[in-house]
Amino acid sequence: AKQAGRNRFHFFAKEYGRQADRRLWLEHAMKHALSHREFFLEYQPKIDSKTRAVVGLEALVRWRKDGKVIPPGEFISLAEETGLIIPLGKYIIEATIRDLAILRASRFPAVPVAVNISAGQFTDPSFSRYVANTLAEGGLTSAAIELEITESLLMQNLAPTISALREMREAGVRIAIDDFGTGYSSMSYLRDLPVDTLKIDKSFIDDIAKGERGRGIVHAIIILGHHLGLTVTAEGVEVEEQANILRTLGCDQMQGYLYCKPLGVEQLLTWHAHTETS
Ligand code: C2E
Ligand code: CA
Ligand code: CA
Ligand code: CA
Repeated sequence: AKQAGRNRFHFFAKEYGRQADRRLWLEHAMKHALSHREFFLEYQPKIDSKTRAVVGLEALVRWRKDGKVIPPGEFISLAEETGLIIPLGKYIIEATIRDLAILRASRFPAVPVAVNISAGQFTDPSFSRYVANTLAEGGLTSAAIELEITESLLMQNLAPTISALREMREAGVRIAIDDFGTGYSSMSYLRDLPVDTLKIDKSFIDDIAKGERGRGIVHAIIILGHHLGLTVTAEGVEVEEQANILRTLGCDQMQGYLYCKPLGVEQLLTWHAHTETS
């Protein structure tokens, strides 16, 4: 047993070393990727529950590296830890605004695009000015974008984030709380938060077709959101049965593979042209 224990330690030590190497490599590769424009965005539509019209888009970042596409789950948290999220976040906003120009010049409806924002970006004091300037340079009003910030990040940095949110909102930018239900926001905070939308986390949507209890939680969130005057969006809607339940419960907007996966701008235009004629 002693021998096995020692081997195990050795194994972990080796693994840890590799992990640290991997982090260093990844950080270096991300810096390179930023200056070589290897990051790009895909957009996932948000659908009105009643009319089924497209009412918004969400920008989701991807990294094209050596012909492969790396999902954000593999690099966003390291970007946050290393501070690279600041330049990457700016790149994401600029790329979104460039893509918006293409969408606005097409037949695609002029809906707002939501951008996911990390807490570190919000606490940068120049952030709201930066967003306003970038929008103005692109010839867009503040109604063109919406910011999604996760409930857990919001709660970690409550005071500085709330004042930044206020500033953004006074400038006319809409704010959504992302992954709602996973981050322990207390009711008293929720009452005073300067936000417009609650996005119910996919984990709750996964449960609604499985029984009363899962459905009850989602129903409660929708009622809460509506009492606070907020729009409620469900993320990760995959099957018709979930969509039917969400419609019955009064959920305002839906997003998920049932309607459309995240797509590049060109594919998005093709998708929209097809849904218009079908
Ligand atoms: P999120 O903001 O909760 O985004 C939803 C994720 O669920 C996306 O994964 C999306 O592709 C995926 N999704 C959408 N519909 C469905 C569905 O019906 N079924 C399933 N199984 N998945 C669905 P993605 O693009 O890999 O992004 C993962 C997370 O990475 C995002 O979660 C967000 O927290 C973060 N992220 C993505 N883009 C950005 C960004 O530009 N900036 C920052 N800071 N974070 C980002
Ligand atoms: Ca999001
Ligand atoms: Ca989300
Ligand atoms: Ca989520």
